[in-house]
Amino acid sequence: MSGLGKLRVAVIGAGAAGLCAARHLLSRRDTFATPVVYELTKNIGGTWVYEERVGCYDNGLPIHSSMYRDLRTNIPKEVMSFPDFPFAKHLPSFVHHTEVRKYLEQYCDHFRLWDHIQFGTSVASVTPVDVKGGWNGLAWDVTSNDGVDHSKSTTERFDAVMVCNGHFYDPYIPAIPGLEKFKGMLMHSHDYRSAEPLAGKSVVLLGAGLSGLDIAMELSSVDAQVILSHGQRPLTCPLPPGVQQAPPVTSVLEDGTLEFKNGERAKPEVFLFCTGYNFTFPFLDKKVGVKVQEHLVWPLYKFLIPPAYPSLFIVGICRAICPFPHFHVQSQFVLSVLDGSFRLPSREEMEKDIELDIAARRARGIATRHILKLDSEQWAYNDELAHLGGFKPLPRYWSNLYESNKVFRARDMLNYKTYNYTVLDNMEWKNSMSSVCR
Ligand code: FAD
Repeated sequence: MSGLGKLRVAVIGAGAAGLCAARHLLSRRDTFATPVVYELTKNIGGTWVYEERVGCYDNGLPIHSSMYRDLRTNIPKEVMSFPDFPFAKHLPSFVHHTEVRKYLEQYCDHFRLWDHIQFGTSVASVTPVDVKGGWNGLAWDVTSNDGVDHSKSTTERFDAVMVCNGHFYDPYIPAIPGLEKFKGMLMHSHDYRSAEPLAGKSVVLLGAGLSGLDIAMELSSVDAQVILSHGQRPLTCPLPPGVQQAPPVTSVLEDGTLEFKNGERAKPEVFLFCTGYNFTFPFLDKKVGVKVQEHLVWPLYKFLIPPAYPSLFIVGICRAICPFPHFHVQSQFVLSVLDGSFRLPSREEMEKDIELDIAARRARGIATRHILKLDSEQWAYNDELAHLGGFKPLPRYWSNLYESNKVFRARDMLNYKTYNYTVLDNMEWKNSMSSVCR
């Protein structure tokens, strides 16, 4: 605890999740000391800070953002925003990524977050220490590096840590037998910036998630011939010209030809992986026991809290969610745990809860690698956290519009971003807003 008896909380990362964590901590100065937000780059916004370069920053650290030049959001701004801070009214529903970065900067202005962020500071280790009188008998030593070459090391002690380091920066490439034999250009969507360098080329694009579909459309616009290879049910919506579907690539033959699951073959100039990212928490002390296995981060109570170290919070690891509102809910829940308005169950009870939850998901046929994909279950999850934490749930407006957008996207991936929901800037929106603002 700080000298005044307030809880000191460290926040790792100044992306949307870390900013949201800081915003809520600052709103509760009665209980919390001003937070320290560690940010390894020189900017806020994480994913939303577009970098023309690929590879590394000047200081040798790998580029964090996976943003591409022409990206527009895939969630309408009406529900993509934090519930207590709307996007500017004049913007269309699906905005260019530069507008999201601006929006996050405005969020920092509005909630006066800037002074609490230590830029150019990377967290190197987060270590639990037993402390008599600490929150739950625990404290955390956070060691960070800064200075021009990141050689200056500092350790500070905190009562709690919110890990908000993002999970869209360490490319995941599936193990495909013979991949090293591929003779063309291999790339991951993390390094994709724009379509022009691939104009007119033959491309096998593996993965039909949101980025895969988006990039397939961009490539189509520069006359690339794209085989969209994926393991989902074949897409039934109209595809852009020059894009055809195929089952997953299962191997690469001796001469570099790709073989698909149905036995068909292709020898493209480019093999582009839109296969997602690994979770990584390189700074986390091993004894905390948080493991990543098959894209599942566990054991975490409510996908947030390691039962053995309940003053550590890993925010924002769920996938297929509406991220900013989700961070808003998780942050409020964390505060309710720390200020005691929600009393966590015992370690054993939390471990049992996790075990049962994972078993129930597996029993419903959800593979381990998809357990963190909440999809439509996110709304029940958010409601549960609000109920436990004793704060207001998100109004139905959020789930209704988010889910409708998903349906429109599945039906009409070529055009759904032209829809405009700004007409909803009416009483319904205002009522929703007033019910979530503190
Ligand atoms: P990030 O934005 O990744 O921020 C993490 C921050 O932590 C970074 O600033 C990083 O520098 C910092 N950091 C990491 N490690 C350390 C360390 N050791 N020490 C200090 N700092 C550290 N979401 C939407 O809502 N709508 C969309 O349309 C949408 N489109 C997307 C398109 C793409 C291509 C991608 C990749 C993601 C998209 N998302 C979208 C999801 C998006 O990632 C989330 O909305 C959100 O920005 C994630 O925020 P975050 O804070 O969890 O992570």
